[in-house]
Amino acid sequence: NLEVGIVGLPNVGKSTLFNAITKAGAEAANYPFCTIEPNVGIVDVPDERLQVLHEMYDSKKTTPAAFRFVDIAGLVKGASKGEGLGNKFLEHIRQVDAVAQVVRCFDDGNITHVEGSIDPIRDIEIINTELCLADMEVLERRLLKLTKLAKSGAKEAKAEAEVLEKIKAALDEGKTVRSVDLSDDEKDMIKEMNFLTLKPTLFVANVSEDEVATADTDNPHVQRVKEYAKTEGAEVVTISARVESEIAELDDEEAKEFLADMGLKESGLQKLIKAAFDLLGLMTFLTAGPDECRAWTIVKGTTAPKAAGKIHSDIERGFIRAEIVNFDDLVAAGSTAAAREKGQVRLEGKDYIMQDGDVTYFRFNV
Ligand code: GDP
Repeated sequence: NLEVGIVGLPNVGKSTLFNAITKAGAEAANYPFCTIEPNVGIVDVPDERLQVLHEMYDSKKTTPAAFRFVDIAGLVKGASKGEGLGNKFLEHIRQVDAVAQVVRCFDDGNITHVEGSIDPIRDIEIINTELCLADMEVLERRLLKLTKLAKSGAKEAKAEAEVLEKIKAALDEGKTVRSVDLSDDEKDMIKEMNFLTLKPTLFVANVSEDEVATADTDNPHVQRVKEYAKTEGAEVVTISARVESEIAELDDEEAKEFLADMGLKESGLQKLIKAAFDLLGLMTFLTAGPDECRAWTIVKGTTAPKAAGKIHSDIERGFIRAEIVNFDDLVAAGSTAAAREKGQVRLEGKDYIMQDGDVTYFRFNV
């Protein structure tokens, strides 16, 4: 189950954003077997294609794809040395698949900033420093072990040590592991180290409620975050956490009106969910029928049997083949039967790599 961790300094709006996430969150009934801890929020991935399938199949229900956000509170300066929740916090980050770093870009005299002023780049660097220090600790421990192994002639140990030396040089300069240019082989070698600063990261620029419509282009703090993010190849999502928590209280119709009034097409939360979805390297395949139309989340590059396993392990085990029609072809044809007549329903075997928007029916042995 894929998870995005929400991190940031205190008082930047993490809890406000997280509250919006849980309030707007996915229908818990869809996840009967998930125990949900208080710091975990499941979100639905907005997908217009589901509605189209729902109408085509006159299905009883639709179920969107979903993934999890985890609120990781407690990062302060000195966390890597055990300040605040310190190491516990860092271990939490180690477990997530991607990181959304919230940075404060709103001026509000009533809300103190832990560092005394609004300066998102300084904040990002404080956090990155803590994460880099934690990575350095893990790295040095490993390097010590490898040096011993290399002395006794282990070739792989030597190769890995060389990669780690390269990373160490970057960390020494306060650079993240993800900024180091590594080949696929090198990445493989260090995979197990699970470096915090190697995790895919996006920045959430939290702006004031009266700036939601303009901040993305006009707020100077946001512009600085964007420039910074560009150097890392990271995305920036501009939102007002406070507005998002208000929107989360509304029903769908009200929310639409509210957004239209502000001249927005989608909520900040929807933007964030889509960006996080991409960041995790996820894509969607669809199943459709009179009982249910559903979107399923898989990692890009997943084979057909593995995708089937998302639905049920029995379907993966007994996989025979997948009948697949591309969503656009299906819609153009008007029905599965019509698509079949046009030869657009393909039979794919166990090596097939799923594509985004594959409308799929799995055949399997029971
Ligand atoms: P956390 O410590 O990062 O979890 O921050 P909180 O979510 O508790 O927010 C800290 C304070 O900032 C609270 O008083 C929030 O109401 C306020 N806050 C959060 N987002 C916004 C925003 O978009 N605009 C304004 N004006 N205040 C906000």
